[in-house]
This record gives sequence, C-alpha cells and structure tokens, in this order.
Amino acid sequence: MKILPTHLTDPFQRTIDYVRLSVTDRCDFRCVYCMAEEMTFLPKPSVLTLEEIYQVGQAFTELGVSKVRLTGGEPLIRNGIMGLVERLGRLDGLNELVLTTNGSQLQRLAPQLRDFGVRRLNISLDSLQPRKFRQLTRHGNLDQVIAGIDAAIEAGFERTKINAVILKGRNEDEVLDLVEFVRDRHIDIAFIEEMPLGLIDEHDRALSFMSSDELREIINDRYPLTSLGDATAEAAGPAHYFTLSDSESRIGFISPHSHNFCHLCNRVRVTVEGRLLLCLGNEHSVDLREVLRSENYSLDRLKWTIVEAMKRKPEKHYMNDSDGHDIVRFMSMTGG
Ligand code: SAM
Ligand code: SF4
Repeated sequence: MKILPTHLTDPFQRTIDYVRLSVTDRCDFRCVYCMAEEMTFLPKPSVLTLEEIYQVGQAFTELGVSKVRLTGGEPLIRNGIMGLVERLGRLDGLNELVLTTNGSQLQRLAPQLRDFGVRRLNISLDSLQPRKFRQLTRHGNLDQVIAGIDAAIEAGFERTKINAVILKGRNEDEVLDLVEFVRDRHIDIAFIEEMPLGLIDEHDRALSFMSSDELREIINDRYPLTSLGDATAEAAGPAHYFTLSDSESRIGFISPHSHNFCHLCNRVRVTVEGRLLLCLGNEHSVDLREVLRSENYSLDRLKWTIVEAMKRKPEKHYMNDSDGHDIVRFMSMTGG
C-alpha cells in the first residue's frame, strides 16, 4: 500500500505549505478593478459547502500545509463562516490561519475571529476619502471599514496589514496619506499592482496600471525605505517589504507581474467551486469537488488527488507575455 507523504512537493523541488481557500464568490462591494457592476454569482449547488471546505482544509494540513488563508469574494459575508473558522482554528499542524477581508464586518467579528485562532488579517483599503472610497468600491462605506480596522487593532491580531490597489488617475494621490494612516496605527501596508484578472469595462487596465517601482519612488522621497530583503515570511511570494527609520510599520509592494518569485512559490489556491488552482497566472486546475461529492469519498482519496495534482504545478506564470490575454477568472473567484 502506498503511504501518503507528510509534505507536498512539486516537480520543481518546491514545497507547498500555504493554501488560499476562497469561501465565497460573493461580496458586499464591487471594487472597480475586481468585479463588474452587474455580477452573476455561482448557483448554490456549485459552491462547496462549509463541511466540504473544512475537509479540504483538513486534507491540506495533514499533507504538511501550515498556513491557510481564507478569502473570497468577501469571506465574512458567507453564512456560517464563523463556525468554519472555529473548526479550522482547531486543526493540528495549522500554524497560521489568516484572512483577507474588505473590513465591512470586522467591527462585529474581529474579537471572535481572534478568539477562534485567526492570527493575522489583511484588510483592503484603497482610499481615505469617503466619496472616492465609494466610487472605487461602488458600495463600500469608509467609516464602517475604518471602524473595522480599528476593531482589528483593538482585538490584538499580529501585524495587521492594509492592502491597497493604486490606479493611475484615481487614487495615486493618496499613496502618502495611506502610508500616514498605517504609521499612525502602527500597522503594515502592501501596495498591490493591478492584475489582469476578470474582464471589466469600468476602466482600461493598461491606462490605470501603476507599477510598484513608481509607488516606491513616491514613498521613498518622503520616507526613506530600507529593504527587508528576503527576511520576511512573505519572501516566498511576490511581495517585497521595506522598513521606515522612524516607525514600526512595514511597507510592501506586491508585483504579481514579476516572474522573479515563481521559483520560490509555496502556494496553491482552491476556488469556491473546489477547483485546485496550481498557479494564479495559469489555468492549470484539478477538480476537488468531484472527489468530495463522489460516492466513494474519503479524506485519503482527497489527499491523494491533491498529492497527484502537485505534479501539474507549472514552473512559472505567463501573465505578462506579449500575447498576454486576460485571464477570464475574476480575482473574487480565485481568492486574492
Ligand atoms: N474581499 C476581500 C478583500 O477585498 O480584501 C478578499 C478578496 S479580494 C479578491 C483580495 C485582494 O485582492 C484585495 O486586496 C483586492 O484589493 C485584491 N484584488 C482584487 N482584484 C484585483 C486585481 N484585479 N488586481 C490586483 N488586486 C486585486
Ligand atoms: Fe469584494 Fe474584495 Fe473584490 Fe472588493 S476586492 S469586490 S471587496 S472581493
């Protein structure tokens, strides 16, 4: 009998120890770079149940995955999400349960998330101006999100981080204000380059694209930045972090277009339909839902499917090739 491995590795000698699980494709916001104004969401039967998501989380942690990020859509608007968080938080071997959220529900849920074992939160915030915030998110309320961020700080999560997507001509004038915001609160911020995920018609992504290099220059002129090199936990990802001389806040730049981080890639994603995506920038995927819903389902069968899938993880993504066609999936489908 074949014995299941205790660690996941791919053909390029990378160890996969980090999984992002999307728990819903739905959201209470419609951020202009992420969703179209009118979205058709998945029918309920296509979406993994909370129990199925838990099985996926358990399978991965038993295969050596030590970090799980819950994302979406907006994870905190899924009915019953707190029960799932509580169960995942109790899994042996899961060192880091973390969550990415738009912050709209945090005022209510931050303390309980902390109690259930969530270690860190990434909270999205692209503007500090109420009207602009509303324009960028289409439905968001800035006061509510800031109150959510403050509730997270109060609840005592480790290194709360703001995620900001900067679009040329829209919120590029707020870069320094966002840095001030995190400095005041002693939290971190990561600026994310816009990715060509999902077809949107609200703006032309080519015109709005703001590179990490441009952003870094703007910030460095005001607050000299010192690189943290590869010393951060995020080093295996597309993020590059910097410190400031007079603050504990860290400033990160996430450049998903760069191929440079692919050789360090330690992560895979599972969509809310149970598709295991082996690379954000490629369409390689394996259907876990089929296994979860098969008559002869067992946790071991799910684990073997995952182990076998790793053989299909591509060496690198091709998001910025010259014929670079947009990937039709929305970020909210894959889990950012
Ligand atoms: N709703 C949650 C939130 O907004 O944080 C979690 C899901 S959202 C898809 C995760 C992250 O992806 C957010 O920080 C968002 O800004 C980012 N994002 C969404 N679409 C993007 C795109 N096209 N390019 C770059 N980042 C994007
Ligand atoms: Fe919703 Fe997050 Fe996408 Fe904004 S970025 S629409 S909050 S899923």
